[in-house]
Amino acid sequence: MFVVGLTGGIGSGKSFIADLFARHGVAIVDTDVIAHSITAPRGAAMPHIASEFGEAFVAPDGSLDRAKMRALVFADDLAKARLEAITHPLIRAETERQMAAAGGPYVIAVVPLLVESATWKSRVDRVLVIDCSVDTQIARVMRRNGVTREQVSAIVARQASREVRLAAADDVLVNEDGRPPELVADDVQRLHEKYRSSAIATLR
Ligand code: ADP
Repeated sequence: MFVVGLTGGIGSGKSFIADLFARHGVAIVDTDVIAHSITAPRGAAMPHIASEFGEAFVAPDGSLDRAKMRALVFADDLAKARLEAITHPLIRAETERQMAAAGGPYVIAVVPLLVESATWKSRVDRVLVIDCSVDTQIARVMRRNGVTREQVSAIVARQASREVRLAAADDVLVNEDGRPPELVADDVQRLHEKYRSSAIATLR
């Protein structure tokens, strides 16, 4: 299966643009959704998290106590690495399963930290970066999540910079606030046709 890795900073519009591809019938595999599902009640990561970190990190409903885990990993890089040693292989396995089950000539994997991950960069056939200014990212996330400018800025600062992300891109889709929607839709259509042709060419 031909895999397009769709990435971008927080608030760049990854989900928004993935929805536009989905309207062309493209299968979307969202690693954020998978990450959430493995730490939901009865999620595949939960028994491992309970034995590694203790039952105190399991909420009464059997899901991950996110606030508690966030507080721990924020202050402790080793704990973060221990958590990721549990979650990353499970996320990758479930992503592979969903990609293999997807129909159509190609699949889009939405991977927020793709540029930061050597494993992901080597896994995908094309890297599509959704690009906008940091000001637009901040305004969107403040609106979407009802958080402060400082909170969004802190997250943006921990992610790859715009320059690093663009340097890793095979294709760039400009999703700036105020850009006419029909131009964004045209770009999606053009990229969809290009990916479909590339995917079919690799089958020959
Ligand atoms: P990401 O998944 O990259 O964090 P989202 O796709 O959730 O970002 O987009 C952030 C917010 O901005 C959402 O509320 C989304 O609906 C809005 N948004 C993103 N792109 C556009 C656009 N081109 N036009 C209108 N709203 C947009």
